[in-house]
Amino acid sequence: MDCLFCKIISGEIPSDKIYEDDLVYAFRDIDPQAPTHFLIVPKEHIASADELEERHKELVGHVFLIAKKICAEEGLTRGYRIVNNCKEDGGQSVDHLHFHVLGGRSLKWPPG
Ligand code: IMP
Repeated sequence: MDCLFCKIISGEIPSDKIYEDDLVYAFRDIDPQAPTHFLIVPKEHIASADELEERHKELVGHVFLIAKKICAEEGLTRGYRIVNNCKEDGGQSVDHLHFHVLGGRSLKWPPG
């Protein structure tokens, strides 16, 4: 499958990996929007959050717990933001489900 994030997970394309287990792969975003900006990506190719199924409930919960663990390691004691851009209007540019995790500065709301 011609998917950028599948190629990153397989190692075909290099990445700045932070964490990996059976379910997810986490790496630093190539174009960081905050002092800390990494992506958590399910290893299963799921095109977007709109393609999630009942069987993915545990996976999505796992993503949030891994985000918490990495943010603690990164020292983000003042907080952080977990973002999923879903499909075209949501601003998704890579069609493999991923969660942005941003921190290290005071983030504004709402997004554009
Ligand atoms: P989206 O716009 O929500 O789909 O997020 C895709 C993210 O992937 C963007 O923040 C990009 O900067 C990031 N990205 C694209 N290519 C790479 C790469 O090769 N390595 C790391 N991050 C990437």
